[in-house]
Amino acid sequence: MISKNPETVAIRTQLARTQYQEHSVPMYLTSSFVFDDAEEMRASFAEEKQRNVYSRYSNPNCAELVEKMCLLEGAEAGTTFATGMSAIFSTFAALLDSGDHVLSARSIFGNTHSLFTKYFPKWNISHSYFDVNALEDIESLIRSETKILYVESPTNPATDIVDLAWLGALSRKHHLIFIVDNCFATPYLQQPIQWGADIVIHSATKLLDGQGRVMGGISVGNESLIDTVYRFAKITGPALSPFNAWTLSKSLETLAVRVEKHCDNALQLAQQLEKHPKIQQVRYPFLPSHPQHELAKKQMKKGGNIVTIEVSGGLESGRAFLNAIQMCSLTANLGDTRTIVSHPASTTHGKLSPKERQEVGITDGLIRISVGLEHIQDIIHDVEKALERI
Ligand SMILES: *Cc1c(COP(=O)(O)O)cnc(C)c1O
Repeated sequence: MISKNPETVAIRTQLARTQYQEHSVPMYLTSSFVFDDAEEMRASFAEEKQRNVYSRYSNPNCAELVEKMCLLEGAEAGTTFATGMSAIFSTFAALLDSGDHVLSARSIFGNTHSLFTKYFPKWNISHSYFDVNALEDIESLIRSETKILYVESPTNPATDIVDLAWLGALSRKHHLIFIVDNCFATPYLQQPIQWGADIVIHSATKLLDGQGRVMGGISVGNESLIDTVYRFAKITGPALSPFNAWTLSKSLETLAVRVEKHCDNALQLAQQLEKHPKIQQVRYPFLPSHPQHELAKKQMKKGGNIVTIEVSGGLESGRAFLNAIQMCSLTANLGDTRTIVSHPASTTHGKLSPKERQEVGITDGLIRISVGLEHIQDIIHDVEKALERI
């Protein structure tokens, strides 16, 4: 390892130079790789020889991305995917058998929820949800068929912090595979493997790219579990394009500086909005008013880039706020250089009943702000102007 520091690791981990002595790694846009002779081809297909054969199986740009992410997360092995959802689906599908049970936090990404509720029952895979604010109830939900324990932290959009060390210990005790979607924190802020996670999944589409350009996904963790996931993906084909892998590996070179700045902007915005008369509540893990502030400080380096605010006046005010915003974008992504505002109750979580929304901490007037890298005064100005108009 070149260094233990994430900045250096993310910049200096790279593929060996070719005969052209390039400084920046080239893109290997090729679907397959050639063999010198029949014997090399035979040995490669038989996996006696470790080398690239076909880009659905492996590609140098994907391998570089995996190596960096493994070093950043403290993982033994990893494998890349076309999107975050294909990483989540393939990881679960590879590790679960018919009859197995998944124990998951209730506040998870909407499409992951659909995977559990709509598709897994087709393969006789069941799930139970627990409330991240009542972890003591979890043990009673564990059955002999429970195989995976799954969480995101901070949660979306409520920014609840889940005690990873506690869950890590629980997973050991009950021999569960503990999987964490670390998309909101990134390895720069939080390394779940350190707290006992067996696998960490990312939607690379979010802060890892950080510029709203490409989609991607990655799973890293325990070598033998990742090998099972890799073999499933190799056959079923959710491969990451080498172009996207190259882009993402470049993005990681600036992960530390970007995430630092995202967090500083988010904290300043949160502090400023806490005083605003039209806001009932501001939630940000690194504000002392956050109910899990101490836990956030224990397991995260900084608070992340998501700030949620509760505007007075419910659903109508939430929608009016979006209509009044000038600079910030109304879009589905998060973790971009551009600040993004969204109103979960009327969009991403619009299909849930008011009771279901309540259970995952989504009130009618809740606005999620994915704080970007514009000048903080411009972000504050845009949000405050919009608040004036609701
Ligand atoms: C966006 C997201 C995903 C899905 O990732 P895609 O790249 O959009 O497929 C999964 N988990 C979390 C927490 C996300 O925010």
